[in-house]
Amino acid sequence: MKFKNSLIVLAMSMIGLTSCNSESHDKNPFLSDYGTYLEAPAFDKIKNEHYLPAFIEGMKQQKAEIEAICNNTETPTFENTIWAYDKSGELLGKVGGVFFNMMECMNNDEMQKIAEEVMPLMTAHGDDIAMNPVLFKKIKYVYDHRAEMNLDDQQNRVVEKYYNDFIRRGANLNEEDQTKLREINEKLSILSLQFGNNLLKENSNFKLVIDNEKDLAGLPQSSIDAAAEQAKKDGMEGKWVFTLSKPSLIPFLTYAENSMLRKKMYDAYYNRGDNNNEYDNKAIIKEMLALRLQKAQLFGYDNYANYVLAVNMAKDDKTVDKFLSDIFKAANELAKKELDEMSHIQYLEVLAEEKRLSEQEGMVVSLCDYNVERYDWWYYSEKLRKAKYDFDENQIRPYLSLDNVRNGMFMAANKLYGVTFEKRTDIPVYFEGVETYEVKDFDGSTLGLLYLDFYPRESKSSGAWCTSFREGGYDINNVWHPALIQLVMNFTPASGDTPALLDWDETETMWHEFGHSLHAFFSKGRYSRTCGNVPHDYVELPSQIMENWAGEPEVIRMYAKHYQTGEVMPDSLIEKIENSALFNQGFNTTELIAASILDMRYHELTNLDEINNLDVDEFEKAQMKAIGLIPEIQPRYRSTNFGHVFSGGYSAGYYAYTWAEVLDKDAFNFFKESGDLFNPELAKSFRINCLQECGNDEGMVQYKKFRGQEPSIEPYLKARGLK
Ligand SMILES: [Zn+2]
Repeated sequence: MKFKNSLIVLAMSMIGLTSCNSESHDKNPFLSDYGTYLEAPAFDKIKNEHYLPAFIEGMKQQKAEIEAICNNTETPTFENTIWAYDKSGELLGKVGGVFFNMMECMNNDEMQKIAEEVMPLMTAHGDDIAMNPVLFKKIKYVYDHRAEMNLDDQQNRVVEKYYNDFIRRGANLNEEDQTKLREINEKLSILSLQFGNNLLKENSNFKLVIDNEKDLAGLPQSSIDAAAEQAKKDGMEGKWVFTLSKPSLIPFLTYAENSMLRKKMYDAYYNRGDNNNEYDNKAIIKEMLALRLQKAQLFGYDNYANYVLAVNMAKDDKTVDKFLSDIFKAANELAKKELDEMSHIQYLEVLAEEKRLSEQEGMVVSLCDYNVERYDWWYYSEKLRKAKYDFDENQIRPYLSLDNVRNGMFMAANKLYGVTFEKRTDIPVYFEGVETYEVKDFDGSTLGLLYLDFYPRESKSSGAWCTSFREGGYDINNVWHPALIQLVMNFTPASGDTPALLDWDETETMWHEFGHSLHAFFSKGRYSRTCGNVPHDYVELPSQIMENWAGEPEVIRMYAKHYQTGEVMPDSLIEKIENSALFNQGFNTTELIAASILDMRYHELTNLDEINNLDVDEFEKAQMKAIGLIPEIQPRYRSTNFGHVFSGGYSAGYYAYTWAEVLDKDAFNFFKESGDLFNPELAKSFRINCLQECGNDEGMVQYKKFRGQEPSIEPYLKARGLK
């Protein structure tokens, strides 16, 4: 559910690099116009060998652009400095927008090698710009004189943002500290890459091979079929292979009766990166934490969290800690109740088993040694759900074919904003089966292209995310370029004659990522620094709010139709979804907040010696014990597989999902209270203030323009069953 702001790339230039010759310019698709519709990446022409030369040329071009700004002898102005800088680095953005996204969904050893070469160059390039004294002096001049320059609000904001960026990236440090910062940044870029690659390897290395049919007991047929297909792919026809991808893992944990095999899958998943093998991430974590702390200290912060949070809505670690701790207490208590209810079901099962043994086998036994263990949570919670609500996930899947869910979210966006989605088959794609849609606004103008990549493969990272090949924006000639947005997911694929049928979590995930894309398509602004650019703890508002529509009965009826009969999901089933909406929320919230707290604790460390002597596993255990996390639950991500924090952009930022959830629940409640889920006035205001112009002012200011007041936490607490 990540939103990847693809660009490290807007990090910038100054390195002496050789250029490639003009002959290769003719052949390298990055180095001239693609010649495709909307200049969509020419995936049919792009080859791995094109990346490095294009990166080098891109850095060279941006370096020249920066030099031109620096060498300009006129007095610095908004135009000749800020505007010119804002529009620099176009080629670098073009190649980076493809490469870094392909790293996530078409990864292989060759790509990793290129990344290892490119990342240090890019980091140094970015640092060269950030610490270019002449450039900073010019930006500072505009900043200091901005009151006399007759700038409009947006221009003022862009000037202030850039000035602050440069400070935060080291422009004001002395030379010695700048050298230190460069070393730190370079090391961090490599380490985060290694962390992610290790995780990818650990994901794909584990396979549970089953050759005894009995061990499949309890599993739905769709899962068994998928495992048989995986086995065939892996050259083990006749067996069943389960992997750590969610569509394989989750049904296994939920339905497999063999508890030892559930444990095996569970352990494999949670221990990724913690197996003391060549892909172990513990040493990387320590090194990253030490470097991050040193970086924060260079800027006068006591810990890394405060360095990060200074530009977020939350502002500091104390605010985040208090926010998380209050929710955690309530969630943990709720999880304990859920555990009690599951234990009761387990107890009844044990009694029944004892009875069966004595009646059928004449054995008198007392099965006293049982507990709901960590790896049992999915299994017993599903039983509890069946018992309490007579609700089984497999009842709803036939109504949630991927086609219907996708069309449903398109329909909802159309009802809210008047946008339409037209399938295109002429846009080059990087992998067969990736779908492309042209997104048009209510007035028929083109907002951009949407790429949808649905199913797991070994070259793809786990999870789901939204990213861009190119963000919408004006170029230096004031020409608008529509956004090219990619949604990547890892959903249950089609199997045999059955199309892809999603579960509820996958359905929400698709709507979530789609919400990010609407944010990207609607963002409009003259300057790339502020167009669509929001603080980290705001960014999940546009995405998470869409999940609310997905689950409303009125909306479910619009899209949930049986894949064979076309019958709309019956009210009885919709009622079950509604009734069970609060189900297992203690667990869900607890594991999410526990991970958020773990992230904070790491980045609140203030002592370098402590980090150097850190035992990652022990630290994690101690922190979870300190908050009173029940042992039957682990944080959603353990340290060694917490990719958001150690290879994504979410360090001291995982709390942002919850922070934004308070916003999205409050915002959606506003629609509900109006009596019209698609209230046109509210939709228009939400689009303008919270999506289109969200970068124009601080997150809370923009939010209040829509809501008329600060958000209340009440709708969030109610939605999670915490109140
Ligand atoms: Zn998201």
